[in-house]
Amino acid sequence: MRLSFLGAVGGVTGSQFLLETSRARVLVDCGMFQGSPSELVHNRVAFAFEPASLDAALLTHAHLDHCGLLPLLAREGFRGPIHATGGTVELAGLVLLDSGKLQEEFVLDQERWRARHPERAVTEARERERLEGELLGDVEETIRGQPPEIVIGHDEPLYTADDASATLPLFRGLDYDRPLEVAPGVSARFLDAGHILGSAIIRLEVRERDGDEPVVLVVSGDLGRSGTPILRDPTAVAGADWVVCESTYGGRVHEPRDESLRLLAEAVRLTAGSAGALLIPAFAIGRTQEVVWELDRLVADGRIPRLPLYLDSPMATRATDIYRRHPGDYDDETARLLAEGESPLDYPGEIVTTSAAASRRIGEAERPCMIVASNGMLTGGRVVHHLRDLVDDPRAVLLFVGYQGQGTLGAHLQAGAEAVRIDGAERRVRCRVRSIGGFSAHADEPGILAWLDGFARSARRPRGVFLVHGDPAARAALAARITDELALPVRLPRWREAVELA
Ligand SMILES: [Zn+2]
Repeated sequence: MRLSFLGAVGGVTGSQFLLETSRARVLVDCGMFQGSPSELVHNRVAFAFEPASLDAALLTHAHLDHCGLLPLLAREGFRGPIHATGGTVELAGLVLLDSGKLQEEFVLDQERWRARHPERAVTEARERERLEGELLGDVEETIRGQPPEIVIGHDEPLYTADDASATLPLFRGLDYDRPLEVAPGVSARFLDAGHILGSAIIRLEVRERDGDEPVVLVVSGDLGRSGTPILRDPTAVAGADWVVCESTYGGRVHEPRDESLRLLAEAVRLTAGSAGALLIPAFAIGRTQEVVWELDRLVADGRIPRLPLYLDSPMATRATDIYRRHPGDYDDETARLLAEGESPLDYPGEIVTTSAAASRRIGEAERPCMIVASNGMLTGGRVVHHLRDLVDDPRAVLLFVGYQGQGTLGAHLQAGAEAVRIDGAERRVRCRVRSIGGFSAHADEPGILAWLDGFARSARRPRGVFLVHGDPAARAALAARITDELALPVRLPRWREAVELA
């Protein structure tokens, strides 16, 4: 049997792994590559296999870098099924429809940009050609026996909102911890990964022939952080022959949760004291729910004054509704609060804005107040117009609670920029800027090592751990720790590398 690494090997996006036996073909994740142009170019390369030939696709969770190319897979002939937990099925529907719409809008924006900046468009096209050459020249094609090729032009959307809609009927919801035969000789069991609602570690038992001893392959997906609110901790798995493990936070240790809460409370009190506005840019799925949960607890514990909270992200509101429909996925603490009649997913008196007009009216709302809005890196969404209102207001506090990608407006502000460009206009930064590093949906290095230690101590010690989903430095740092401390054989696969699992 063979495992091919089709994404998330040189970076943290584009998760895609193909498992093949003589009688089955199963894809795990089909994520979009995001971020830099050298990552994005991967999205336009033909799939390494014939989509119609798959028996099934399995989805670890609903983040775009894990599910984002499923509509393309369906358009190219894949007829399903896509197996995922109930929470993931619902969240993926939300994410994919939004993504189809954004793909269409992005292409129109690019067209307008090229018309306005013809010289820069030529330079950009040259750079794109160079990246394509570099990418394609680097790969020995092993799966279809032919070299990879670009099949989607840079001026076409990867897929449309209609393509995304057409994908949703292929999803099949399943429960955690119930084995399911997903292809001849391949049984899959989804275990809670504690990363976002519905997220899963997938444990596969694979048999070339009936009656064979199974080969056990465990794919970590994105591993959550122990002790975060709402969700359970990642499931400990005992024993596997092969492990595919994420490495996002290799070489790094998260700030303790108590310190994050102290900083959050401090930002709220600072806002109250100056009668200003607290603006928290947050990702719609996961982070927004976590921040609301923590603010609700801080109020309940009397650690912060009860300021009005505006939740200004339609996507986050829909995601929260989905979280509410899956109470069976909550951790003990959240389940206990619910049983005691509390509503831990809601902040008392929170104001949810649905229309764009209501969102703009927040600018005139009485102060002090708090605003949680998407997106988390200030690269677009409603949070940008709040920032425009508040960036030069010395009473305002801008609070980062998530990772800021290199080169984003969020990263500039976080680094202490004195002036920034917002919608083309230069603005002085007079608001106070604070950051909390400890809210993370991923396990840090000690967390990943602890999870892998369960395998190292088991009777079925892995013959290999493949590290994926990490930048090169993070992956290398984690690899060294695994080798030194757990004495497990580590491998760092390349893009489109295929490995025999003996
Ligand atoms: Zn994720």
